[in-house]
Amino acid sequence: MTDSGAQGSYQTGEEFARALDAADPLSKWREAFHVPRRPDGREVLYFCGNSLGLQPRSARGIVAQELNDWATLAVEGHFRAARPWYSYHEQVRAPAARLVGAAPHEVVCMNGLTVNLHLLMSTFYRPSPERYGILIEGCAFPSDLYAVRSQLRLRGFEADRGMIVASPRSGETTLRTEDVLGLIEREGPRLALVMMSGVNYFTGQVFDMRAIAAAARRAGCAVGFDLAHAAGNVELALHDWDVDFAAWCSYKYLNSGPGAVAGCFIHERHARDLSLPRLGGWWGNDPRTRFRMHLEAEFKPVASADAWQLSNPPILAMAPLVASLQIFDAAGMPALRSKSRRLTGYLQFLLDQMPSQRYTVITPREPAARGCQLSILAHHRPRELHAELESAGVVCDFREPNVVRVAPTPLYNTFHEVWRFAEILARHV
Ligand SMILES: *Cc1c(COP(=O)(O)O)cnc(C)c1O
Repeated sequence: MTDSGAQGSYQTGEEFARALDAADPLSKWREAFHVPRRPDGREVLYFCGNSLGLQPRSARGIVAQELNDWATLAVEGHFRAARPWYSYHEQVRAPAARLVGAAPHEVVCMNGLTVNLHLLMSTFYRPSPERYGILIEGCAFPSDLYAVRSQLRLRGFEADRGMIVASPRSGETTLRTEDVLGLIEREGPRLALVMMSGVNYFTGQVFDMRAIAAAARRAGCAVGFDLAHAAGNVELALHDWDVDFAAWCSYKYLNSGPGAVAGCFIHERHARDLSLPRLGGWWGNDPRTRFRMHLEAEFKPVASADAWQLSNPPILAMAPLVASLQIFDAAGMPALRSKSRRLTGYLQFLLDQMPSQRYTVITPREPAARGCQLSILAHHRPRELHAELESAGVVCDFREPNVVRVAPTPLYNTFHEVWRFAEILARHV
């Protein structure tokens, strides 16, 4: 069976999957990663890059370098290490900026994602008694909901009254852009902030960040995005979209290891504004006066996203990020996104061949409205399906009661792996 859509044509046979791999210009990147193996030595089918990306083989050497420099140089390592620690965060700035479509001075890598959301909300959530609402999507990631609720409470508002929730229409699973824009317009007078994810973790839906940012701007409120599932997955243009701020983690599609150092974007009109209120720490201070150790020392923010830094960077945690961003720079987001569309489109095509009463893909069908991930709702014995997937060596995410989230990633997954995964789904009864 064949299908020819916008993504080119597909066929169902195994040889077709092999041919797609043979023609894939990015196939060599798989070699750059450690793929876990099953007890019998075979590699697992790893579709969990949306949760924890695989380890780049180059990460170990870069971490080892820092351990060595620490052993041999101790405090001198701040300036004499192979990659001096004092300016360690500088080397990830430009590649991280390229990933999210920003200028280098708009980006800084630091902390964890939720920490960064709080730091950014401490500046960009400026509520007044009349205007304190925060708009968020209904099935947002729990940490984001906790962060938003606690920000409301911290500023003296009732969380339930302050949260304005964008929900799908009844009977639908994803948000319609027009509904989000309508809600922003309608609630505008009481909205202080729009804080949504760029790609929803559960459905895999890519939101129209440009349109949402424009609507927030028209309503006169700030707009920030959580890019946990977007960074390294879809192409972003945060500067041009005129987003106020964004934050992302680096352990999902960015393959930088468990709890990896996260990233932040602050639009240059704010990054350069020294008068903004923010939480201060020495690493956000102008390096020329950073070390003034006296009581009257006044915090002088750097005129860039760096001004939101508090502490000196965790070098050992940041080392894998260096390894990972080198890979993204070398492979390039346009090429990765192009393969990703083809890879995920292929999975969708194979699912389309199965009887419709078995599975429903709740992720949008339009390629522009999804990234790597498909969220597959299993109608028939979902828990047994999950067990079958596990025993077949598939690593993917199962959300109670019945959704399997699979994310074929263009850096290390193959078309043949997608084909094998679909074979397992097709056998499930
Ligand atoms: C993964 C994820 C998080 C995790 O937060 P951490 O602070 O990195 O632990 C938060 N929000 C979203 C939307 C996520 O997908």
